[in-house]
Amino acid sequence: MTVSDPFSELISTQYGVGPKRTKQLANLEITTVGDLLWFFPRKYVDRRNVVSISKLVLESPSVLEVTVNSIKRRRLQKPGLELVTAELSDDTGTILATWFNRKGLEYILKEGTAIIIYGIPSFRGNNLEISNPDFAVIKNESDKLNFCGIVPQYPSTAGLHIRWFRNFVASQVKKNISFIEETLPKFIIKKRSFVSLSEAIETMHRPFSPEQWKEARRRLAYDEFFTIQITMALRRKKIKDLNTSPIIVPKGKIYKNFRKELDFKLTSSQEKVLSEIFGDTSKNIPMSRLLQGDVGSGKTIVAIGLAAAATDALVQTAILAPTEVLADQLYSQMTKYLSSRGVSVVLLKGALTVSEKRKALASIKNGSALVVVGTQSLLEESVKFKNLGVVIIDEQHRFGVRQRAILLKRKKVPHVLLMSATPIPRTLTMCLFGDLDISVLKEKPVGRKKIETRIIGMAQINVLLDFIAKEVQNSGRIYWICPRVEDQTDSDIASSKSRFEFLKKNLGQIKIGLLHGRMESNEKEETLLKFRKGDMKILVSTTVIEVGVDVPEASVIVIESPEYFGLSQLHQLRGRVGRGERRGVCVLLASLEESALDRLNIMLKTDDGFEISEADLSFRGSGEVDGISQHGATNFRVANLFKDTELLLEAREDAYELVNRDPSLSEMPALIKKIKLNSDEIIGIG
Ligand code: ADP
Ligand code: MG
Repeated sequence: MTVSDPFSELISTQYGVGPKRTKQLANLEITTVGDLLWFFPRKYVDRRNVVSISKLVLESPSVLEVTVNSIKRRRLQKPGLELVTAELSDDTGTILATWFNRKGLEYILKEGTAIIIYGIPSFRGNNLEISNPDFAVIKNESDKLNFCGIVPQYPSTAGLHIRWFRNFVASQVKKNISFIEETLPKFIIKKRSFVSLSEAIETMHRPFSPEQWKEARRRLAYDEFFTIQITMALRRKKIKDLNTSPIIVPKGKIYKNFRKELDFKLTSSQEKVLSEIFGDTSKNIPMSRLLQGDVGSGKTIVAIGLAAAATDALVQTAILAPTEVLADQLYSQMTKYLSSRGVSVVLLKGALTVSEKRKALASIKNGSALVVVGTQSLLEESVKFKNLGVVIIDEQHRFGVRQRAILLKRKKVPHVLLMSATPIPRTLTMCLFGDLDISVLKEKPVGRKKIETRIIGMAQINVLLDFIAKEVQNSGRIYWICPRVEDQTDSDIASSKSRFEFLKKNLGQIKIGLLHGRMESNEKEETLLKFRKGDMKILVSTTVIEVGVDVPEASVIVIESPEYFGLSQLHQLRGRVGRGERRGVCVLLASLEESALDRLNIMLKTDDGFEISEADLSFRGSGEVDGISQHGATNFRVANLFKDTELLLEAREDAYELVNRDPSLSEMPALIKKIKLNSDEIIGIG
């Protein structure tokens, strides 16, 4: 754009905004005029109905058109506190209005002044009274119009005067609204009968009716989804236009032997997912697939199957875990199934000595290492692969779009499989991974028992300790999870450290270990290994064990202060037990407050991770589902992932239609600009 864009003008350059307000506005993340226009009210006050004093309903917000009869100020007992009381009347009666302090109010509300007020009437003594009402002096009809109507209430205005802020927004909207360019193509506006973008924004700040507001909101919520979906559609198109990937089919010797030697039968879900995967990899277009499967659904075997087939195709597979502990675990599973077939599996991790590391890197570079396990650092430039054909990323939500984009820049683009044990609601999946193909492991391996879940209070801790002692006697093993590592002075939540001491004192005969995120990684591994081997029976931990840790003997998990965890996270934690022969028990040691119990009770009702994540979404609102790190893409201003599913589906459909019609968006300059603004992660448009 050549003319300067009024929306990128700094807010500090606007009339009425000095350094102090600039700072306050910045606290609301408003630094430009555009930020201000897109800063929408949180709610509205309906001041359309003016009532007469005789028709007032007590305790119900009301608008009154009245005249000031008298006004006086008096000092209250508390120093510095003054009360201003005005007697107001209309044709039908009188009412008192009171304000605290309000310097100079008596000069504004002189006797005989016509004003309009808004507040909540109540009876105080024998008087009808409104305390601290909002008001405006009425000189002409437009004063009245400004005060009445549907009035926006902005989210916390960080010390800014509410009335100033409201007027400031109104004046900025008026000044700039005509510069707002339409971002949606005409065919979509028509198809969905949307109002224009400028009308929608204007309406959000000052709707004339709830119906009009609804239409504005619908348009803007759609826009938020559409921006994401168009990004997804473009990204997907970019991927599907590539054709440099290796062809991998499940027909080679290593794969066949792997299948033959498995000591269990794959579930039909696993079979289906494998065929979906090989459906992709049998073409030279890069696979870009997300495998979702609840904890214990058996994703690792699927990954090993893919690695085996890749090995047959003589290309390298990189497997990335989010932590070194999990990389270790994956490595041992990979070697178990693949090394016996002569496949060289290499683990690359921080704890290697310099010469070990050099050796590993060399084998990756010369191609003799066919399967390489590690953490994110595997994708760093210092790691050179001879012939990388497959990248498998476990617990993908810790890996960003950016890393995926880097893979697409390779001369030969590897097939990518992301795996996630964090079931997330379908709507969120569409926003975060809408560019991927999705596979789901619905069914769990047979024989897996349901985890018995209980909610108890601190009063029952002795019963719990007895139960744990018995469980250990019967060769069970216990996880004890606390939300924090250290005690905090302002809180009575037990930290893992103090709980560790407490358990040692009360269960002295049992070997207990402590694991937390601040420990060195070799220290962590050592502790976990002891627990795995049974040298340690109880492991007190923060949530570092959350993702993927697999100790089949673990039978009980105690989760303290579960109200501090999201439901999906609790579900993840719960999935750490009952993985072997033993039945699993999950004890939620909660405060038993009713509000928390409502949410926690869901854990008793279902063990379906997807259902739990939907519940999480409904309780915690959009963008706050666990396991998904704060993701810019879902910080919606208007849209709600729980309520606006329909709109999301429409936006998705339309985005794909548009990309099909006009892949370079050549006719949509304003849209391109917006996508670029909203997503620096997009992989080159057009
Ligand atoms: P997750 O999906 O949580 O990564 P894993 O792949 O770790 O699950 O599998 C959990 C456990 O179930 C492992 O011990 C694995 O060997 C076992 N398993 C996987 N598939 C099956 C199956 N089809 N039948 C029986 N056990 C299975
Ligand atoms: Mg796993």
